[in-house]
Amino acid sequence: RQATYAELRDVEPFTRDGTRITVMINAGLRDDMSMLQLTGADGVGLFRTEFQFLVSATLPARDRQLRLYRDVLDAAGDKPVIFRTVDIGGDKAVPYLNSQVAERDENPAMGWRALRLSLDREGLLKAQARALLEAAAGRSLSVMFPMVSEPWEFDAAKKVFEDQLEFLRARRKLLPEAVEYGCMLEVPSLAEVLDLLIPRISFISVGTNDLTQFLFAADRANPLLAERYDWLSPAILRFLQRVSQATVGHPVRLGVCGEMGGRRLEALALLGIGYRRLSITPAAVGPIKELVRKVDLGEIGAQMNQWLLSPPADLRAELKRWAEQRDI
Ligand code: PEP
Ligand code: MG
Repeated sequence: RQATYAELRDVEPFTRDGTRITVMINAGLRDDMSMLQLTGADGVGLFRTEFQFLVSATLPARDRQLRLYRDVLDAAGDKPVIFRTVDIGGDKAVPYLNSQVAERDENPAMGWRALRLSLDREGLLKAQARALLEAAAGRSLSVMFPMVSEPWEFDAAKKVFEDQLEFLRARRKLLPEAVEYGCMLEVPSLAEVLDLLIPRISFISVGTNDLTQFLFAADRANPLLAERYDWLSPAILRFLQRVSQATVGHPVRLGVCGEMGGRRLEALALLGIGYRRLSITPAAVGPIKELVRKVDLGEIGAQMNQWLLSPPADLRAELKRWAEQRDI
């Protein structure tokens, strides 16, 4: 008998050959946090802090940010939460920044957004850093930066946090027990300098939504292109495999937080190329846990290697058949 998704809530996702896969959820609202208990996920692998900015008519004040982040950490209890600093600007336009964005962006996805905007509007990043650090007083904090394209952007963003930490320390405020920093990998250029980046960071989370739009030069919001390129194409999978290989032997956690990880065949492929951490939409947690329990990593690893060395004409069809033969 197949276990139902509800029954899987308290079951840890081990593969058949005994590897624990970390399955986390993506969230962005206070209310999303109830999904942690409901799904039994391992934590929040991506908390999109821009949701609060997008629903607000004015820039959310620091104390409002602080309250949200504290509530989120309270709701998570012992489970980890990775807060991503704001990814606004570009297509996620906010009225209070619109005039500046309009001047700059004809191509919003590739424009003045996310960390680029946060670094240029340092007051905004400072306020967010203070809010996060104060919300995490006495516990640990994980911070992730979106759209990092070169390592110096990571360094500059981290420095804003470290300066705020110093500011709080000087005022004898209660500090977080630990603060760790990581990057989204969603701009292809970052993959070419992973050797420079990896020693500086604690974790990498691949944002496959933006990454695929930049790899294929195909707007992720354009319905005419939505079906054109496949996540299970050799171009993407080889790219992701190289990223995974670049992290082997380094104490850096590697995961995926794009929508790709929440789809069964895509998740299977990701497991096959070395990914052990998935942060996905809450509704996908049950199906993905169920999948994980049926997978032998050695077997799918060997198969993916072979397919990526000499790709079949239709990798998706091959993988689907392969999975069906094994009742996956
Ligand atoms: C991504 O780009 O894959 C991602 C997870 O971030 P967002 O969808 O918020 O851009
Ligand atoms: Mg993104």
